[in-house]
Amino acid sequence: MAEYDYDLFVIGGGSGGVRAARISATHGAKVAIAEEFRMGGTCVIRGCVPKKMLVYGSHFAEDLHEAHRFGWDVEGAAFDWPRLRDIVQADVDRLEGLYSVNLGNVGVEIIEQRAVVAGPNAVKLADGKTVSAKYILIATGGWPAPAGCPGEEHALTSNEIFHLEKKPENIIIVGGGYIANEFAGIFHAFGSNVIVANRSEKILRPYDQEIVGRLQEISEAKGIAYRLNAPLEKIEKNDDGTVTVHFRDGGPPQNADVIMVATGRVPNSANLGLEEAGVALDQAGAVSVGDDNRSSVESIYAVGDVTNRVQLTPVAIREGHAFADSVFGGNPRTISYDNIPSAVFSSPPIASVGMTEDEARAKFGEDIKIYRSDFKPMKNVVSGREERALYKMITRGPDETVIGLHMIGPESAEILQGAAVAIVGKMPKKVLDDVVAIHPSMAEELVLFK
Ligand code: FAD
Repeated sequence: MAEYDYDLFVIGGGSGGVRAARISATHGAKVAIAEEFRMGGTCVIRGCVPKKMLVYGSHFAEDLHEAHRFGWDVEGAAFDWPRLRDIVQADVDRLEGLYSVNLGNVGVEIIEQRAVVAGPNAVKLADGKTVSAKYILIATGGWPAPAGCPGEEHALTSNEIFHLEKKPENIIIVGGGYIANEFAGIFHAFGSNVIVANRSEKILRPYDQEIVGRLQEISEAKGIAYRLNAPLEKIEKNDDGTVTVHFRDGGPPQNADVIMVATGRVPNSANLGLEEAGVALDQAGAVSVGDDNRSSVESIYAVGDVTNRVQLTPVAIREGHAFADSVFGGNPRTISYDNIPSAVFSSPPIASVGMTEDEARAKFGEDIKIYRSDFKPMKNVVSGREERALYKMITRGPDETVIGLHMIGPESAEILQGAAVAIVGKMPKKVLDDVVAIHPSMAEELVLFK
């Protein structure tokens, strides 16, 4: 008789948990995974994937508006939110099914219910059953932070926003992070009046502030309003279903159909039986783990957003994969958190890798050099749109090692992914200079910095 019911019990079927379960099973482990909501987790069900689909939907607003400049007459173009919403949700359903099929194909047992830790080697399921496992992996992700003011129950979060019955005429989006700025672009394009309210002056703090400044300029020119230094005071629900939002900035209250709060995501570690089992949490409630993803309890590991390291899907996936290879694949390994490329799918998008100008100056002082390309993409020339792209390269030292790349402009996420190799490979700028440009393209600016 086996000592435990499973070699591995994964709690949470999101980006990190699914990868860890699948690879562990491939390495020969007997694996179960519990998911209390929908297989695929935040990214697939109510994050990256449906968000990006809405971003694609939003691009049509400007393209249709400018179509006549490209010779096309488009009569009667109108936006139908329920149609887009339902098509996006149908694809989410399809992906959810695929995740389950892929897990089943490698023999992972799927348990569709909530699971909590009941001891170093014990998991209790919502139906009351307790099972045992040699290892437990906590991959429960994060949860949107509440508004933190009276009336917070009247605010929506990214969890609900994908399911709106109708497109809001007026929406207040609270927060200065990437989710707030992405949804500002989405709803503005759909025709909503958008106000982005942030408690402090700065938005998109981790990003190069010159690039962020360009986004703010472009967004304001489009008609997205920013209400900065405006912490929430309270949210009131009106009889007609609208909300009135009061800010602590001395300004008047603001009415809207919808208030969406996107002020960050907290690790989903509450009521999981972790403290009782001796698993140490940090002040933010994240499971404290070492580089090997192991918690303070030898048999319990954690990966992904619940560890609050870098809250991105590719990072959760890498952590899950490294865990599986280390524990079941005879290949102990850790992942690198240096130079992680990321993007904000705002309108236009921002993409970034490496140090920002402020970070580089603080660390290396005068030993850095900044290159800029501030240009009007050809498409905007034809369309008559004033929007300019801005690319920045930051180099260090006499051989000009590339230590930062920051971009705002159409398709910047697509363009930056390849260019990030220069940073991870610690290449001198000369290597990029030696690359022949693809002309005409926006990407060629990366090899033409002067
Ligand atoms: P999750 O994917 O959150 O999965 C955790 C799972 O655990 C959930 O399915 C949950 O239901 C389940 N669960 C929790 N507790 C239990 C329990 N007790 N029992 C059983 N199941 C449980 N990242 C990017 O890289 N790019 C993007 O463009 C991007 N866009 C985003 C947009 C939005 C609106 C949001 C909210 C997030 C976005 N992210 C993006 C972040 C990304 O979704 C997360 O970093 C990623 O999903 C983390 O994966 P995870 O496995 O840690 O957790």
